[in-house]
Amino acid sequence: MLQRCIECGKTYKKEDIVYTCECGGLLEVVYDYEEIKEKISKETFKKREPGVWRYIEFLPIEDMSKIISLQEGNTPLYRCKNLEKELNVKELYVKNEGANPTGSFKDRGMTVGVSVANELNIKSVGCASTGNTSASLAAYSAKANMKCIVLLPEGKVALGKLAQAMFYGAKVIQIRGNFDDALEIVKKLADERLIYLLNSVNPFRLEGQKTIAFEICERLNYNVPDRVIVPVGNAGNISAIWKGFKEFYITGLIDELPKMTGIQAEGAKPIVEAFKKKKLEIEPYKNPETVATAIRIGNPVNAKKALKAIYDSNGYAEAVSDREIIEAQKLLARKEGIFVEPASASSIAGLKKLLEEGVIDRDERIVCITTGHGLKDPDIAIRESEEPIKVEADLEKIKSLLMEG
Ligand SMILES: *Cc1c(COP(=O)(O)O)cnc(C)c1O
Ligand SMILES: [Zn+2]
Repeated sequence: MLQRCIECGKTYKKEDIVYTCECGGLLEVVYDYEEIKEKISKETFKKREPGVWRYIEFLPIEDMSKIISLQEGNTPLYRCKNLEKELNVKELYVKNEGANPTGSFKDRGMTVGVSVANELNIKSVGCASTGNTSASLAAYSAKANMKCIVLLPEGKVALGKLAQAMFYGAKVIQIRGNFDDALEIVKKLADERLIYLLNSVNPFRLEGQKTIAFEICERLNYNVPDRVIVPVGNAGNISAIWKGFKEFYITGLIDELPKMTGIQAEGAKPIVEAFKKKKLEIEPYKNPETVATAIRIGNPVNAKKALKAIYDSNGYAEAVSDREIIEAQKLLARKEGIFVEPASASSIAGLKKLLEEGVIDRDERIVCITTGHGLKDPDIAIRESEEPIKVEADLEKIKSLLMEG
């Protein structure tokens, strides 16, 4: 296992603590896939406990005693019959990552990232975050007995996420600036070796997140979906999921690949703009804005990996408005009983839009990823719901309300 630059091909060992290549390119983790092929089969996986670590041959850990796990992964893949009817599509699934230990897919990345840090005997970790990364890192570093510092954009972090980061005992710092500013600062702390950086520029995190693809393949009996729709912020997750599918493909476990489809918010859509111009370079947003705070990112670190994933898979990228996001969030709750945070609902909003635009065929087998739990952002849920009715504790009054329908 090595880290390899996606631009110039230079390789680094796990012990070389680097986050990008000396040429500036992003790193990705590569394995000896011929060797993996010899070791694994569909049956080997089936015999093991479910979750991220079921796929150990595809993960960058040699010493299993160093694994820090909260039993992440193994999230439900729901067949959404009511939504199929509503949107007039043939086969729709939702992979609900809100069911992870701290309520988002970040836990898949953190179990691997923090385990690597543990193998390297690191004592201090840190990240910049729109909320979920900090909640997750705070939990995993607590379990690993590491110090943890998190930088958040002041006033722009959903309440539930802030509560988590604080309660797990991280040092929480709010900066007057946005996520992109916070990331610049923690990168410098990492360059000075004051912390080990666990943002998604760290390629080991993406190794954990790619297991979303592995689980989808297994759950669908290795019938690969035609399309996977993913909310995109810093663009690590869509890149990771694509890597997962490709790895199952090159080791012979699947013989088809899905079209990767990324969804951003109108007020923060540099990747969508690059895609529509057929480019690999983005033009960053200085002041990204959206109700979906988890994807309120103007300068996505993994843009190049994500755009490659979209182009290589013959996928697509589209943006949705805040209103469309909230409507999709409600639809998912009220038709399927799945409560997700706004950013997560962008995959559903994107599906609806791309069906209307004719980009997505109605008979495709589609998986939408919902990235985080609805309780993360109670303020939005309350703001967008009808006020509860308040009356005396009186049976007749309640009966008359019931009659109203
Ligand atoms: C982090 C996050 C995203 C964005 O994922 P990226 O890998 O940064 O693109 C989307 N939704 C939720 C809920 C998140 O926590
Ligand atoms: Zn390089």
